[in-house]
Amino acid sequence: MILQNWWFTTLMGTQNPITKPLMKNIKADVVIVGAGVAGLSAANYFMNLNYKVVVIEKNICGGSSSGKSAGFLTPDSELELSQLVRRFGKGGANDLWSVPTKGIELIKSNIESYQIDCDFQVQDSLFLGIGNSGWEDIKEEMKSRELLEFKQTLYDKNELKSILGSDGFSGAVRYKDTYGINALLYCQGMKNVLIKNGIEIYEATEALSTSDHCVKTHLGSICAEQIIFCADKLETKLTHYAENIYHAQTFLSISEPLNDLMIKAIFPKESFQCWDSTLVYSYFRITGDNRILLGGGDMLTTYSKNDVNSARVINAVINKFKRNFPQLRDLKFIQYWPGRIDSTRDLLPTILKDESSPWIHYVLGCVGLPWASFCGNFVARHAFDSNIQNDHHYYKYFKADRNFFIPLWLEKILGKQLVFSINNGWAKYYQVDKK
Ligand SMILES: Cc1cc2nc3c(=O)[nH]c(=O)nc-3n(C[C@H](O)[C@H](O)[C@H](O)COP(=O)(O)OP(=O)(O)OC[C@H]3O[C@@H](n4cnc5c(N)ncnc54)[C@H](O)[C@@H]3O)c2cc1C
Repeated sequence: MILQNWWFTTLMGTQNPITKPLMKNIKADVVIVGAGVAGLSAANYFMNLNYKVVVIEKNICGGSSSGKSAGFLTPDSELELSQLVRRFGKGGANDLWSVPTKGIELIKSNIESYQIDCDFQVQDSLFLGIGNSGWEDIKEEMKSRELLEFKQTLYDKNELKSILGSDGFSGAVRYKDTYGINALLYCQGMKNVLIKNGIEIYEATEALSTSDHCVKTHLGSICAEQIIFCADKLETKLTHYAENIYHAQTFLSISEPLNDLMIKAIFPKESFQCWDSTLVYSYFRITGDNRILLGGGDMLTTYSKNDVNSARVINAVINKFKRNFPQLRDLKFIQYWPGRIDSTRDLLPTILKDESSPWIHYVLGCVGLPWASFCGNFVARHAFDSNIQNDHHYYKYFKADRNFFIPLWLEKILGKQLVFSINNGWAKYYQVDKK
């Protein structure tokens, strides 16, 4: 098994040449920094609106988290529906669930209307319980979905065997309108659409600093009326809001292709995108070329400061997967790659306008492609004339100075790594924000 991002492997042979870097000083109406799903979604909003829009991306479009991701498109992210209900009550949970739901609609509609070739898979979600506590989690999720009048199906351990070839799970909740994509090809596809429609995109171009209305890069600059940051792993020299973000580490792997019999042995009827109820959960789905995409992590490396590049963690995830599916014990996994997901202390994104320079907007810590898709679009809609939008209230959920279990002053003493892990755990399992 080699250390290589499979999605980058799939880029070989596609028509996605890297764009030229910015090497001059230019003016624009809007500059967007960062071209993951969020930045591209922001740029997409401006397409055909008669603004001059420039996107700069220090890697290639989708080259960071988006293009490393497993490509599950589901409203579930680090926060399950039952956790949102506990935190925000029925109304708040409904409101927040609509964020990733709209994000999925935006991505799906782009894939369909621009015919983006990105291995789009229609796959119901299966949230799998492990052990008795996992079964309780599944029932809790089921109850929350019923409370919000969503549609789903509950499977107990025995019923689950009709749709999943494993004895390892204590039950599952299944629901529709979820999909799988190759998110790197999606981002590269969106790049081509945007360029064709007049948006300037400069890859391998890093924003180094901002001053007033201008963003400086290595050999150029862009001065614009509005500046939108949709960048990850920002350094504090660019903005002090970078303090609000930490990055959790997870790992992915891809198998050699399976034949039909092997697939039927896992998914006898149809394939699903699956994840389990454990704290550091594993997740898997089948790609369009019949490979298993399997991801997960462990407690020690999720919040570690240092990047872990060895196959140790993903090997443990693969072994666990094979214990649940012994029929696949001889299946080889050929590539693996680590990735870091930006998140805030309570796992909701931070969206704001800079307090001293309100023409600078930030989309930070989006956990999940659907969240990123909505948040990029949201900020773009609110950039010029916020008054015509009817969803200002999301700024309140996503403001930077919301309350966290361990306050910021204590973080300075205890350290970001420890405090983020505790605040994340608190937000997931105990926090209540109904007010
Ligand atoms: C291994 C892994 C698996 C995941 N699986 C899933 C999944 O299955 N489903 C799901 O919904 N989510 C998944 N996620 C999370 C998801 O990938 C992210 O939440 C999402 O991609 C965030 O999108 P974004 O646009 O905000 O950030 P990014 O995709 O990180 O985009 C930010 C961009 O900004 C650029 N940038 C940063 N600094 C600068 C600068 N100074 N100048 C110019 N450009 C800059 C970066 O290069 C990057 O391209 C996964 C993440 C990882 C790492």
